[in-house]
Amino acid sequence: MNINHTLTCTTCGEDTDVRFGLSNRKVQPLRFPCPHCGSRIDVTLELGNGFTFEGAKLIDDRQPKAAFDNTNPFVDLHLDFPVWPDKYVPGNTPFIVAFRKVKKGTPEEKIALLQRHGQRVSQLDALAESSSAIHQIIRLYHGRNKQLFITRAAGFLGEKPQTSLLGQDLNALLYRFVSTVFEPFVDMNLVRQNVDDFFRVLVGLADKDRAAINAMMQRFEDSGFLTHLQKDCLELYPEIFSAELALRAAFFLDVTDDQGRGVPARISTADFKSYKDLYKDIAEVFGRQLVLVAAINNLEKRGDADAFFKPKDGNALSSLDKFAEKTLSDRFKYLDDCWYPIDTDIVDTGVRNAIAHYLTEYDDLTQEITYFPEKEGIRQERGETMHLLDFMRMILLLFRQMHSLHHLIKALLYYDLLIRKKA
Ligand SMILES: [Zn+2]
Repeated sequence: MNINHTLTCTTCGEDTDVRFGLSNRKVQPLRFPCPHCGSRIDVTLELGNGFTFEGAKLIDDRQPKAAFDNTNPFVDLHLDFPVWPDKYVPGNTPFIVAFRKVKKGTPEEKIALLQRHGQRVSQLDALAESSSAIHQIIRLYHGRNKQLFITRAAGFLGEKPQTSLLGQDLNALLYRFVSTVFEPFVDMNLVRQNVDDFFRVLVGLADKDRAAINAMMQRFEDSGFLTHLQKDCLELYPEIFSAELALRAAFFLDVTDDQGRGVPARISTADFKSYKDLYKDIAEVFGRQLVLVAAINNLEKRGDADAFFKPKDGNALSSLDKFAEKTLSDRFKYLDDCWYPIDTDIVDTGVRNAIAHYLTEYDDLTQEITYFPEKEGIRQERGETMHLLDFMRMILLLFRQMHSLHHLIKALLYYDLLIRKKA
């Protein structure tokens, strides 16, 4: 369903025709810049209670009598889909345009894909009001009162609270909670496949040389590396959950052929500034997860977590610590024929560095991000560009990678508790 209104900017007094495509989310915060003066206009639609406006107002005698006539600038808004900017065409609603963008296939296949997107969005709608509980439960896991964590997490999942405070049982509850809440964000089949692979690889390593893998685990325990990394992973989840509004359009790209950069479509809420640090933070944690991938790779190939191979253009690293000192993009070259396949393009270090060094610009009107990758400390004169939707997609894909490797941490913790320390 769609609602048409002409909104009058309270800054410049000019009119904009807006078509609101309705989501099923109870509260729908929408945002766009005034096409005349660029001022921010926030619209919140609460189902059952109607619209509230900030930066614009609705003047009765300026409302369209019939369809818009394209004399005013036109804006389409929809939380659940990307919106392709165009002039007003009756019937070309964001939903219909999105449907046309779904991957090629029979009408039944296209409908199934659209339903998959719809199911995800509905799951998020249902969780929207639990946002603060989700933040709290994740924080409680690392708090002192483990019983409180159990009560709250089990209550959230509709389970009877467990009595065991054993590490493996707390972990099992934590990961049931995380898997439930974040199911809409990830591909569960892929996650299950990864989990199976991780356990298989660890058990294989233990069969081959238990002393070597146990020595690695002892080192992780002495340095606290694994538990710190688990904590840092967990801190990202509430942030990702808070980004769900702007990620909805990025989820939609899962069911289209538009996978790469340059999708000239827009997001109908928030802006770049709200999310730019999230990308940098996930990249940081992902970089440290690679230490685990490297350690296992070295164990598999050379029987020692610190034994790196010698790359063509340099020396072999002498230890995992040396690996951790390398820049993120350099780390990939020390993962020879890696047991865990990683797309080395998953992190755009140019974008990451530009954000870290405040070398980004954002145009609210076009949702275009310009970033200036640094070269030898010097800001490049010519920036590179992408759209906010591209950027949200990058966040989503990197989060999925981080989430998969978080299960490697889970597998290592289980190995430690159930195999190494039981032996
Ligand atoms: Zn204006």
